[in-house]
Amino acid sequence: MPRRDALPRLAAMQPTPSSTPPTWLDLAADDPFGIDNLPYGVFSTEGTAPRVGVRVGDRVLDLAPCAEDAGMESALVWRAETLNPFLALGAHAWRSAREWVTEILVNDSYRDAVEPHLLPLSDVTMHLPIAVADYVDFYASEHHASNVGRIFRPDSEPLTPNWKHLPIGYHGRSGTVVLSGTDIVRPCGQRKPPTADAPTFGASQRLDIEAELGFVVGGSTDLGEPVPLDRADEHLFGVVILNDWSARDIQAWEYVPLGPFLGKSFATSISPWVVTMDALRAARVPLPGQDPAPLDYLRGAPTEDGASTAYGLDIDYEVEWNGTVVSRPAYRDMYWSPAQMLTHLTVNGATVRPGDLFGSGTVSGPAKETRGCFLELSWSGQEPVRLGDGSERTFLEDGDTVVLRASAPGPHGTRIGLGECSGTVRPARTP
Ligand code: CA
Repeated sequence: MPRRDALPRLAAMQPTPSSTPPTWLDLAADDPFGIDNLPYGVFSTEGTAPRVGVRVGDRVLDLAPCAEDAGMESALVWRAETLNPFLALGAHAWRSAREWVTEILVNDSYRDAVEPHLLPLSDVTMHLPIAVADYVDFYASEHHASNVGRIFRPDSEPLTPNWKHLPIGYHGRSGTVVLSGTDIVRPCGQRKPPTADAPTFGASQRLDIEAELGFVVGGSTDLGEPVPLDRADEHLFGVVILNDWSARDIQAWEYVPLGPFLGKSFATSISPWVVTMDALRAARVPLPGQDPAPLDYLRGAPTEDGASTAYGLDIDYEVEWNGTVVSRPAYRDMYWSPAQMLTHLTVNGATVRPGDLFGSGTVSGPAKETRGCFLELSWSGQEPVRLGDGSERTFLEDGDTVVLRASAPGPHGTRIGLGECSGTVRPARTP
C-alpha cells in the first residue's frame, strides 16, 4: 500500500462530491452504513485488545493495521482503546481521516491491502466508544419541556421564564454512561407521591426512557476560553443515540431546587457507532424558529452556503418497546441547535475536553406519536400505551426492552444510519 502522510497534517477542504463515490465494496445503494456514513466505534475480536474501527455495511474496518501497513504514524491513534486520542487531534485531523478512509474504500488499488482488515460485524464485540469526560444533558425540545411542565407543574406556565433565552442543562454522571445492550438495574431511592404525607424508600415505580441525541466533543480549550458559536463545529465531532433512563418518582421528589440527581445518574445508554457531523451535512436544516431572538452570543450567523451556524438536524427516531414501535420523534423539531448548546456550556469559560458528551434532551414533537419518553406518551400514567402482544404499559416493567433507532438523510438520496441503542430493565437490588 502506498505510504501516506500522518493524520494530523492539515488537509485542504475538498468540495462536496457531486455524487456518492463508487466503491469496490459490495454494498447496497440504500445501506444505512454506506460509503457516505463511515461512523467510528471501538471493537475487539476474540483474544485481541479493543481498538478503533469504522463500520461499513455489515463489516468493521480495522483501522490500525491499515495505517500500520502504510507506515502511518496515526496507527497509534487507532490502536487506542477509546476514540479520545483521535478526538484530541481536532477537526483538521478528523477531516483527513475521513478522506483517507473514504479513499482506501473507494480506490480499487487499495482493495488487496484493505480487504483482509474488513471483519464481519458478527465476529466483533463492541465497546464504549469514548471514555466520557464531562457529561451534560440539555432540555432543547420545546414540546418535551412544555409537556413535562404541564405534568410536573400543572398550576404554572408550561415553560419556565428562562427557557427560550438559554439552553437549559445540568451536569450528569459521566461514569454511568454505558454501551447499548447493557442491562439497566431498576434504581431505588426516595419517592413521595403528591398525596402522601412523607417520603418512602424503594424501587422506582415510574421508570422511563428519554430518546435523545448525544453529541461527542473533541479538541480542547483553555480554562476561561469560551467557544464562540461560529467555532462550535470545530469541537462537534459526531453523534450517538442516547437513552437518558429516568426514574420519574425519584426525580419529581428530588429535583427542586437544584435539578436532576439520582433519578437520572444510575445509567445513560449510548449507541456504539459515532456518526460524524461530516456524515450529517445533508441532514442540516434550519431551526424551527426562535422567538424571542436569543442574546447575541447565541445568535446564528450566515455560513458560506447560505445556511446558519445555528442549524438543526433532520434525524428520524423510532422508539420500540418490547418489539412494538410506540413513537417516532423527529430531531428537526428541536428548538436549540447543537452549536448553541456547546457555546452556552462554555460561555462562562468552562473547558472542553476530548470525550465530552452532551445530550440534547428528550426529542419530542408536537403530536402524541412523536413523544420521546413514556411520561409524555402515557401522560404521567393516565393514558396506557398498548403493545403488540395486547399488554398495556405506562412505565417500564422488569424484563422490558427498549430499542431506540435513528437515521438521517445522506447525500444523493442515501440514508445515514445511526444504528440502535437498546437496554433491558432488570429487577432492583435493594440495599
Ligand atoms: Ca434528559
